[in-house]
Amino acid sequence: MNITGRTTLVGVFGYPVQHTLSPQMHNAAFEHLGLDWCYLPFSVAPENLEQALRALPALGIVGVNVTIPLKERALRAVDEVVPPANLVGAINTIHCRDGKLMGYNTDVEGFTRSLTERGEDPTGRTVLVLGAGGAARAAVVALAQMGAARVWVAARRLAQGARAAELARQAAPGAQGAAVVWEDAPLHSAVAAADAVVNATPIGMYPDVEAPAPIPEDWLRPEMLIYDMVYTPAVTRLLAAARERGCRTVGGLRMLVLQGAAAFTAWTGRAAPDEVMERALRQALAG
Ligand code: NAP
Repeated sequence: MNITGRTTLVGVFGYPVQHTLSPQMHNAAFEHLGLDWCYLPFSVAPENLEQALRALPALGIVGVNVTIPLKERALRAVDEVVPPANLVGAINTIHCRDGKLMGYNTDVEGFTRSLTERGEDPTGRTVLVLGAGGAARAAVVALAQMGAARVWVAARRLAQGARAAELARQAAPGAQGAAVVWEDAPLHSAVAAADAVVNATPIGMYPDVEAPAPIPEDWLRPEMLIYDMVYTPAVTRLLAAARERGCRTVGGLRMLVLQGAAAFTAWTGRAAPDEVMERALRQALAG
């Protein structure tokens, strides 16, 4: 990479930011397309977020991703929130346009595309989402917009689950949302009635790869779709168990690539070379 006075800058704000793989993914895409662009990581403490965001137009930086723990705070700091990020209540991408900060949630698009490109159609289906944080809320909105009939949210804190489930109806008037208590009996009943389960908790994520899967494997049925948003490891215990039971499975890596691809397109106006981005991500993860 040859950074010059003409290089266009984008990046990611996180705290901590050391573990982000987004620079490898985006810089591989810029190089592939021959774009004189560079993606940089910035460690931004939450209390400095507003100041750092306001500096973007002044520095000529075209946009940034924002990651944990800045996604909710960033939504309140931008000039305009592009739907459906307002429903999710968090943004992960900012684009500086005409001096204004535009906030997007590309997790919704990443999740949606990771399903559609696999031929998965939740129309009329019942989907159980495990967890009620930012990733879960993006999944609830995406599933409702895709036509899921019922989106249930299982959460340790029922009020948080209820708020996330309520998003289903707000995203698509025909969709029903309901919260499920994170206890054996209600969780088991919900899995038994669901066509698909989406893990949007960090359970199974590196380094806790040996932790029990969020739901027991003997609850899974072969006709189910099991989606795990965790991408380290690529095959979690939940996904391995689901494959063994004959379920269709989707891992979190593709969503990570496709949310990045959506940010790339928002900034550059170009179609993202998502296969190149995925290869770079896999290489970075292997390292
Ligand atoms: P978050 O905002 O912290 O939310 C995590 C949710 O999981 C919370 O509802 C939390 O409940 C729940 N949870 C955590 N540990 C649990 C446990 N042991 N049992 C039951 N519930 C538990 O995190 P997030 O941003 O939504 O991310 C969630 C996961 O998705 C992470 O692994 C992240 O890496 C992944 N993710 C992947 C992508 C992708 O592109 N593939 C994108 C975004 C996120 P409490 O509030 O009660 O703790």
